[in-house]
Amino acid sequence: MSNPDTHYDIAVIGAGVAGLSAACFLSPQARVVVLERESQPAYHASGRSAAMYIEGYENPLVSELTSAGKSFFFSPPAGMLAESGPQQLVNACGGLTAAGPGELPKLKKYLSAWQPLCPDLVEISAAECRQMVPILKPSWLQGAAYDPSWHSIDVHELLSVYQRGLRAAGGHLLTSAEVCGLQRRNGLWHITTVEEEISAGVVVNAGGAWAPQLGEMAGASAVPLTPMLRTAAIVPAPEPTPAWPLVHTISEDLYFKPESPGLMICPQDETPCEAMDAYPHEMDVAVAAQRFTDITDHPVQRVLHQWAGLRTFAPDRKPVIGFDSAAQGFYWLAGQGGFGVQTSPGIAAVVAEDLLQGKRPPREMTAQRF
Ligand SMILES: Cc1cc2nc3c(=O)[nH]c(=O)nc-3n(C[C@H](O)[C@H](O)[C@H](O)COP(=O)(O)OP(=O)(O)OC[C@H]3O[C@@H](n4cnc5c(N)ncnc54)[C@H](O)[C@@H]3O)c2cc1C
Repeated sequence: MSNPDTHYDIAVIGAGVAGLSAACFLSPQARVVVLERESQPAYHASGRSAAMYIEGYENPLVSELTSAGKSFFFSPPAGMLAESGPQQLVNACGGLTAAGPGELPKLKKYLSAWQPLCPDLVEISAAECRQMVPILKPSWLQGAAYDPSWHSIDVHELLSVYQRGLRAAGGHLLTSAEVCGLQRRNGLWHITTVEEEISAGVVVNAGGAWAPQLGEMAGASAVPLTPMLRTAAIVPAPEPTPAWPLVHTISEDLYFKPESPGLMICPQDETPCEAMDAYPHEMDVAVAAQRFTDITDHPVQRVLHQWAGLRTFAPDRKPVIGFDSAAQGFYWLAGQGGFGVQTSPGIAAVVAEDLLQGKRPPREMTAQRF
């Protein structure tokens, strides 16, 4: 898309869920442009997620950032939803944490870690768990935890909401606009894209797996972010298509959930790799299929669809949000790992408070903690 302007208050690099949410929250009070290398937004991690909303996830900070955006998911701001579309961005599905032989102590530990933050999380028997998901093998399943508060996110609608918000406030999204140069001169960033040069007071680095490269381009601090490959596949579901909760193993080596046109299975792989257009490896898909076959009475006969995406983590698995200490006006919005969709409204609010009102995020979120 061609650009009607060349100067902005804030240029956000990357039109994944991080960049679009921040741009949406910033644009009512600032002139904002989003620059995206691909011809469409959310081509990378944001278009490849499992689309889950889980409040008891990863660590207490992620949990807090997820809960902070809860009202956005459950009652999005008036005027941002499509008139004919859904009236909320999430659907209840529930989540089961299943334990196999020898894993009950691990399950107890999980319950005591998360129950204080997740009031609906309860321990259930293997029989109760099998009532919900009958394909789990009785010879494998020893016990489980159930949390009815897990939801699936309508990611397509969420991204549309952010883009509608951006447009309504006069912000711009430029696609096929790869940023290939960043220079700070006279108090402004001069951003060279493949087609043009744009200036902005602040650059927000929402480059996902490419965030470290963008940091380097800007002469910013080196932030230890690692893209990790995660694989997913869709396999046939039993007929009729079940309305099961998401099931994940307490050993964190498999999850599965209903997803059209079957069941999504994921081996919960985390293979460090270069930033790239990620693709699934046959071996990772085979591992997922084998693990699923091992614990259920529904062997995988064929794979209908498979994909992979990059989840980019800081070593402490917390996001990296805030101004860089070496490059003035360069703002990190990276390291959203496996929680970038569910934390997007919560994190976008932190970014907006910081950039519009000067309320700095706590040190545990910033690049200065490394
Ligand atoms: C299989 C899988 C399952 C997941 N499940 C969940 C889940 O259930 N719930 C959840 O909350 N999260 C989940 N995640 C994580 C979530 O998808 C990510 O945290 C989130 O999408 C990260 O968003 P992002 O905008 O930072 O990155 P991206 O979506 O990767 O966006 C970064 C963008 O920056 C652009 N870019 C990079 N360099 C440049 C440049 N030089 N110029 C212009 N543009 C550039 C890229 O093209 C890209 O579009 C999952 C991820 C995967 C892979």
